[in-house]
Amino acid sequence: MNKLPSLTPITSQWMKQIKDDFYLLNDLLANYGSPINLINPSLMKDNYQSYQEVLESFGLKYQVFFARKANKCQAYVLKAQQEGMGIDTASLEEYIQCLELGLPANQLIITAAIKNENLLRRAVKEGSLIIIDNEDECAQIQHIAKEQNKKALVAFRLSGFQSANGEKLYSRFGFDVSDFIGFVDDSLLRYDSLEYRGLHFHLDGYSMDDRGAALESCLAVVDVLEAKGLKTEFIDIGGGLLTQYLENEQEWEVFWSQLTRALQGEIPPITFGNNGLGLRFEHDQVVGKRQTYPFWNTCAKGKFLQNILSYQTSNGERIGDAISKRGIELRLEPGRSLLDQTGMTVAKVAFRKKDSRGDWLIGLEMNMSQLMSGSADFLLDPWVVYREKQSETKSVGVYFTGAYCLERDVILKRKIELHQLPEVGDMVVFPNTAGYMMHFFESSAHLFPLASNLIYDESKGLQQDAFVEDDNLAHK
Ligand SMILES: *Cc1c(COP(=O)(O)O)cnc(C)c1O
Repeated sequence: MNKLPSLTPITSQWMKQIKDDFYLLNDLLANYGSPINLINPSLMKDNYQSYQEVLESFGLKYQVFFARKANKCQAYVLKAQQEGMGIDTASLEEYIQCLELGLPANQLIITAAIKNENLLRRAVKEGSLIIIDNEDECAQIQHIAKEQNKKALVAFRLSGFQSANGEKLYSRFGFDVSDFIGFVDDSLLRYDSLEYRGLHFHLDGYSMDDRGAALESCLAVVDVLEAKGLKTEFIDIGGGLLTQYLENEQEWEVFWSQLTRALQGEIPPITFGNNGLGLRFEHDQVVGKRQTYPFWNTCAKGKFLQNILSYQTSNGERIGDAISKRGIELRLEPGRSLLDQTGMTVAKVAFRKKDSRGDWLIGLEMNMSQLMSGSADFLLDPWVVYREKQSETKSVGVYFTGAYCLERDVILKRKIELHQLPEVGDMVVFPNTAGYMMHFFESSAHLFPLASNLIYDESKGLQQDAFVEDDNLAHK
């Protein structure tokens, strides 16, 4: 067999210790069913620090809000609060849960794309900041605030910025930046129960320059608003700050070049059904764009932020300095990147078989919704936890398949090379799945129960009692 390309993930000590303990994992799956999500919120602190160092180096006032939608576990909310972060909530349910966990309303912001009346009523009543998307929301909030005889704290989401290379960035969210001042002049005064606090954006994609350019446009808006007597306390740059998942750039390049060769038919497929992950073979050439998350990148977390803030404004100063000089607070709402290294998903092997193409399929007790990327695939090698390691190993390429009745329920589209064929009852560990992978698309089709989320307390060591179900965390 041709050697299949590997994509070695960056992993942490706690993950390696657990995957080396067959019996611990076996017991956890016996108790909680398959799959399980293992969560270690403690590493959130390092991720937060990576941002803090940069923000402090610019002398900025700042606040970081954990974008809670990236994972459902309340353990992360508690950890974020303990570290001094606020929470970005995207639904009534997320918002209420934070309040019930005892978080103060002024540490919560609401960025929900659709804000129902109950959410708005509650937010106004509690005094949490609402990020407004459109004028209908202004009218609704105005009405609710009047009724409650309160001021609603608001910021405006802006979009339609000029990208660093001159094109206008489309977004379905927010007020178009070129219409915003007109809206302020024509309409904002009518909404006298809204108390303006700041500006917000959240850009699709991972361009640092576009974020720098958007910040510069926001500063221009800040000036115009100031002249009208509206003082901007903060600018919030949203999330989308990169996470670095992979150890090795060369593996990343080899993978994509092998995929290209496979699409051209020069080597056997390395993905299920020769899926191009965004690339296609057409008229004798490979066209299209990679449609996966940039799992390999060189500017993650703090570095990503450092580059945004180092963007040169038209005055030749760094945008971070320009914001700092004016005493405007910088806010960010990272989701995925704060969860880096804090979670993994484990499933049990149900069967092995060869399909009609001659490929090995490893059936797992899980389904595609329990490990689903918003992009074309999750490009990290999993670990297999064998009950018995064979002394003579024979390498084998496999696909992991799931429990849904769909042909496409293939957990990873990549063919994975293992040094030994798993046995029934062995386990497969998918590392670093906390950001979106484990929860964002999970569904209970077929009435399959959702996976248990087990919060790991490292101080208790490698034993069952070190794991508590997230639902059972004591409410504080
Ligand atoms: C999804 C989202 C975030 C978090 O994005 P990440 O990519 O997880 O960092 C933050 N703010 C808003 C408004 C979002 O929609």
